[in-house]
Amino acid sequence: MPALNNVLVVGGGTAGAAGAILLAEAGVTVDLIEINPDITALGSGITLQGNALRVLNQLGIWERISRAGYVQEDWLGLRAPDAEGTLLARVPSTRTGGPDLPATLGIDRPTLARILIDRVAELPIRVRTGLTFTDLVQQPDSVTAHFSDGSVGTYDLVIGADGVRSHTRRYLGIDAEIRSTGLGAWRAIVPRPESITHTEVCYGGPSYIAGYGPINEHEMYAFFTEDAQDRTALTADERLAVMRRFAEEYHGPWDVISPTLTETSRVHYTWFESYLAEGPWHRGRVVLIGDAVHTCPPTVAQGAAMALEDAQVLAELLLGNDVLDDALLNGFAVRRLARVRPVIEATLQIVEWVLAHEHGDIPRLMAEVATIVTEPA
Ligand SMILES: Cc1cc2nc3c(=O)[nH]c(=O)nc-3n(C[C@H](O)[C@H](O)[C@H](O)COP(=O)(O)OP(=O)(O)OC[C@H]3O[C@@H](n4cnc5c(N)ncnc54)[C@H](O)[C@@H]3O)c2cc1C
Repeated sequence: MPALNNVLVVGGGTAGAAGAILLAEAGVTVDLIEINPDITALGSGITLQGNALRVLNQLGIWERISRAGYVQEDWLGLRAPDAEGTLLARVPSTRTGGPDLPATLGIDRPTLARILIDRVAELPIRVRTGLTFTDLVQQPDSVTAHFSDGSVGTYDLVIGADGVRSHTRRYLGIDAEIRSTGLGAWRAIVPRPESITHTEVCYGGPSYIAGYGPINEHEMYAFFTEDAQDRTALTADERLAVMRRFAEEYHGPWDVISPTLTETSRVHYTWFESYLAEGPWHRGRVVLIGDAVHTCPPTVAQGAAMALEDAQVLAELLLGNDVLDDALLNGFAVRRLARVRPVIEATLQIVEWVLAHEHGDIPRLMAEVATIVTEPA
């Protein structure tokens, strides 16, 4: 018998949706609340490595993901910031989700969110949007949640999957120092030239890291990183102009891509941040997963993968044990920290190298991360 009958999931992002699906599939009664009126994701494209795809496969949505996204060729292109955009290396990508899944898939973020939430809707999960909790009252074996619409519910467990600025984490009194890594990232959606079938990056040039990766048959996302700065005052035209200025400084495939950066390119700017909560990740019957407890720059594209794995491991522990106690939740954080910590350290090492214009062995570090995440979570 599973260790719980009913659960409240706070947050309908990648981690929350995955946790809700896995528990509901096993017969647990799931309520999911999302503060936004709609469960959508902003942003451009996202790169999902094999270990993320392994969890999405377990959620029963791999077919949909593979149809909507772009299965990339199993290698990463490294290009030089020179007049030809010379291809320096083809770095083989590891199939970290096993031989039956590709090494890497790119997908539009809102599309990924829609597929997850469509799967949620197929299950008996009660989804309430435009809502959060105002109070969580802990009893020895349950939590009573008071919601912002005045309603109340009592649960065996509350899962806080409410992202990097987690309300649940603050509510539990877990201190979080979210650090800017010093890098800001520009991203935009552009048409995919037929020749671009995998992610390519260029370290150096006017941007610390410039790159692109296909997200479906027709589109890809392009990105540039710069010193993190306040870009909030820029108009849409000015934001596009920044991206264009970067793009025009790169060559090879960029000569084709640059002119396709237009008003319709959905330009986004964010800082790369980092944070890792030391365990335990729970207080009483409230546990945190995903970006609420760890966030990292996407320099090895593992953020969403780690969030998905958290959901999968937590569900496995909850469904495979008949007692829900401190030992189970302590064990969850210990198991996850052993995996998340080296991944975050690798992402930060890459940022450190690029900020210092140092030629660190990035392919070696990527291979080390791949070795870690190929193991089952
Ligand atoms: C620039 C950038 C690029 C990235 N690229 C990649 C990549 O290529 N590959 C990759 O694997 N990862 C990438 N990541 C990381 C990835 O986006 C995150 O790790 C992942 O989205 C975390 O999922 P989550 O569900 O924990 O949090 P989120 O996706 O942030 O979801 C949290 C959800 O909780 C909701 N919420 C918030 N507060 C409340 C509340 N009080 N009550 C109810 N609901 C609430 C939010 O509205 C949201 O829906 C990138 C991140 C950034 C910043």
